[in-house]
Formats: sequence, structure tokens, C-alpha cells
Amino acid sequence: MQKRVLITGAAGFLGSHLCDRFIKEGFFVIAMDNLITGDLRNIDHLMQNPNFEFQLHDVTKHINISGELHYIMHFASPASPIDYLKIPIQTLKVSSLGTHNVLGLARVKKARVLVASTSEVYGDPTVHPQPEEYWGNVNPVGPRGCYDEAKRFMEAITMAYHETHKVETRIVRIFNTYGPRMRLNDGRVLPAFIGQALRGEDLTMFGDGSQTRSFCYVDDLVEGIYRLLFSDYYLPMNVGNPSEITIKEFGEEILKLTGANQKLISLPLPKDDPKQRRPDITKAQNILKWEPKVSRAEGLKITYDYFRSLPKEELFKTEHRDLEKLNK
Ligand code: UDP
Repeated sequence: MQKRVLITGAAGFLGSHLCDRFIKEGFFVIAMDNLITGDLRNIDHLMQNPNFEFQLHDVTKHINISGELHYIMHFASPASPIDYLKIPIQTLKVSSLGTHNVLGLARVKKARVLVASTSEVYGDPTVHPQPEEYWGNVNPVGPRGCYDEAKRFMEAITMAYHETHKVETRIVRIFNTYGPRMRLNDGRVLPAFIGQALRGEDLTMFGDGSQTRSFCYVDDLVEGIYRLLFSDYYLPMNVGNPSEITIKEFGEEILKLTGANQKLISLPLPKDDPKQRRPDITKAQNILKWEPKVSRAEGLKITYDYFRSLPKEELFKTEHRDLEKLNK
């Protein structure tokens, strides 16, 4: 019998790649999004598929799904520091009220639910690399607090539903991920740098660029998440690429890749910007037999080709939506 999966945040970067994967695996996909940060163009190619259905809905409101449901992937949430600043309340609500609704739905449908948590639960980490046992160093009232604390609440309520109502739950902690369908103007470093390179602008490096990140190509991430869903492991699991790089080196890689003649310029470092980030993926390696396969060179090339293929006018739009107005 065909299994049915609900994917929240389905029109977003990660959500849309998950839709592709579940369709490929033969599932019936119910894709849900309120389109605040998602974009229907990311799932346009699936709209005519008989195994795919789109529902425009805000998951912070009660979720109604008719018929059977076997799996839920909760991926609805703004996910860039610029977005949290613009829509902090929506960011808090989607991972708190939204997760509560998703877990309630999982309970009545007897569905297994996987929630998308984040390396941001580790805050500005004092332990490096970050294993799942590390509790983090988060500022609840700083600019990232609305995201970090909502995701920490998400993990807590997910564990509570697991313990209290015996809901089958999975928690993935996602580290920086990149690939086609990222929003060009969401403020994250990779689309920012590639967009600037393509427009002939200097690349805006925050601070002295000595802060580190570890970038995972989206296909690797989706593979890890898919394996986690079908594993028996219900405690949080890191999925990411441990290959760590400073933001300065990353900028230099982008300049080389794009052949751009510009330079890196330094802008002030935003408040609470984590100084270092790298996943300890021992658990994913041992339990899921997973590790990333796509090198940064390969992944960046694919992603650059995607951004290059966008209509030229896209490159010069500052943002194609007014987030504050949508934040009702
Ligand atoms: N960053 C930067 N220039 C930009 C955007 C981001 O130097 O135009 C830096 C940012 O300060 C951070 C890193 O790149 O140290 C990654 O930022 P991003 O917003 O992509 O995600 P984060 O990992 O901080 O959530």
C-alpha cells in the first residue's frame, strides 16, 4: 500500500528537496506551506504529479488532513538570521505552536514524525566540534533567540510527546546546508556571496572572516534525514558535513569559482554570530552508516550553475516579498 507523508515547509529550500525524494521513493506527498518564506516555483515541477498535493496552510493553526497519514516531516520555519530579525514572532510560533499541532496530528494519525532542528541549539558553542550531548551556549534574548529557543522548545515538546503519548519521533539537527533553490536574497552567506559575485559587487564578509562554518550539500543532507526517519533512533542526531572552513576562505573560494574580479570587504560582525561550528557526526556514521559524499568543490559548482541560470532581473531584486506584511 502506498505510504502518505506530510511535508511542512514544502515550498522552501529543504522542504522542496524532500518532496522530490519522497516522490522518487513512491510516496504520496502532501506538501504544506504558507509561502511566507517558501516559493511555489520550488515545487512547480511536482504540481501535476498524481502522487503530489499542495495545501496552502499555516501550521501554527490547527492542521486537518483527511485519510491516512504515515509520516510527517516538519520543515516549516524561516531559517536565516535576516528572516528571524524581520519576523521573530512567526519564527517562534512555527517551531512552538506549529510543532505542537504537528505532534497532535501525528498522535491521532499514528504517524511517525521527524522534526527539523538545527545546530543553532548549540548557540555560540564552547565545545568544538559539537556532539549531540553538548547542551549549548544560547542567548535567549539576542537576535537569534527567537529561532534558537523555538527550536530548543521543539526538541523538548517532541521528546515529551514521545515519552507521554508514545508518538514515534525523530529529531535531526541540521548544520549549514546549501544547494539549488536557496533564496538568493535571504541574507545567508552562500547566496549573498554568489549574488554579489554575479552582480559585480564586492563580497560582504562580516567581521574579519575568521569565524568558521561547515557546509553540507543538500543531497547529502536529504540522504541522512531519510535514513534517520527509517532508523530506530529517537534522540537528536547531527546531520552535516564536518569539513570546516573560515568565512574568509569561503569567500575566496567563491571568488575563484566565479572568476569574479572583486574583493572581500569587511562589515561589522552581527551580534551573537557563532565563532565556530562543525558537527561531530560519529552517531550518524555509526547508526545510519551515513556520511557526506559531495565535496564543497562539486556542490558549489552545481549551486553556482543554478544561480547563474536564474533570470537576470532576479539577481537585482532586493527581495521579492515584504516579510513584515506577511507576518500576521
Ligand atoms: N556572513 C558574511 N557575509 C554575509 C552573510 C553572512 O560574512 O553577507 C557570515 C555570518 O556572519 C556568519 C556566516 O557567514 O558568520 C554564516 O552566516 P549565515 O547567515 O549563512 O548562517 P549562520 O550559520 O550564521 O546561521
